[in-house]
Amino acid sequence: MADGRDLIYFDDTEAYVSGERTRRLDDPRPLPARFEPRIDADGVEQPPLGPEMRLDPLTGDWIPMASHRMNRTFLPAADACPLCPARPADSGTDYSDGEVPDTDYDVVVFENRFPALMQLPGVGLEDGWAVDGEDLWQARPAAGRCEVVCFSSDHTGSFGGLTPRRVRTIIEAWADRTTELSALPGIEQVFCFENRGKEIGVTLPHPHGQIYAFPFVTPRTQAMLRQAAAYRDRTGGHLLRDVLDAERRAGTRVVLETEHWTAYVPAAARWPVEVHLAPNRDVLDLPGLTEVEREDLALAYLELLRRLDRFFVEPEEAGGAPIPLPYIAGWHQAVVGEGRELGRLHLQVISVLRAPGKLKYLAGVESGMASWISDTTPERIAARLQEVAL
Ligand SMILES: [Zn+2]
Repeated sequence: MADGRDLIYFDDTEAYVSGERTRRLDDPRPLPARFEPRIDADGVEQPPLGPEMRLDPLTGDWIPMASHRMNRTFLPAADACPLCPARPADSGTDYSDGEVPDTDYDVVVFENRFPALMQLPGVGLEDGWAVDGEDLWQARPAAGRCEVVCFSSDHTGSFGGLTPRRVRTIIEAWADRTTELSALPGIEQVFCFENRGKEIGVTLPHPHGQIYAFPFVTPRTQAMLRQAAAYRDRTGGHLLRDVLDAERRAGTRVVLETEHWTAYVPAAARWPVEVHLAPNRDVLDLPGLTEVEREDLALAYLELLRRLDRFFVEPEEAGGAPIPLPYIAGWHQAVVGEGRELGRLHLQVISVLRAPGKLKYLAGVESGMASWISDTTPERIAARLQEVAL
């Protein structure tokens, strides 16, 4: 793109699949290069600024801080969707602003323009400092990467309405990005996820997801690795493998089984709606999936999302229509470095909707103590997901 960011196409339509046509991007935007030196008030050249992260000495968590000032001179018009093709082929109009300066696309991935995590040339994690000169407060460049994945050039619809072929392309994009981002210096974990619905805080309705490449292991994954390591020491087993086997043995909370995948509501689910989807074979991450597992995943994932969109219905007096579920769907993958063998690929889908028109807000003990209280039971969630199977 005009400011030096990558834009990567993943195609599943002709004539791109056959190679008859290839993509070529001409980005007309007047974007300043992202890593141009800044000129300060005194006219002195300063190095570009990136996001920083600080270590919370009380929890050991890294907290990225995205308050850095980038060269924010170009913003799409407020009424234009920045994820739609910016130059529709049939419109005959000029460029209309947006993040995808092309006439059309199937699936595209690009770096977020104002990311929470970003690698600057010549700046590494080792370039840390102590906040206010106090060793207790360690800070580092938040040297990761944030990418946006557009699932379709069609502004309307959602992931659950995509064709299996398109979902298959998106799986390919996730796997490719996981491989590429894992190879960047200092990246410890790659998280592909989608937020759907304004209740989750999604501001752009255009079907899209995100990928975060973290320069640290996230708190949830750290907790999972601690548990998995302790479990291995105690039993010699693999925690995530054994959890899947136990769920399959019990069967009570299993909601979907295909040749290669199993979906279940975990026995200690904490969200009003929560379901996990895991491969039957031990797989560390998305790149580790075989061709047939990817094919099967496209179908299983779509079936799961369609059931979630039937989970809640409007009251009879309001018409009884199914409610599109706001959700967060995220892929847990093995970490890049230490503890990699303790990981096992699985998708976690959660929702904050607990009843039609009623959102779960974090209660005092949940926000204050990170101690969760479920408003329902995992068995009830599973029974509903079984009930809405067609
Ligand atoms: Zn759009």
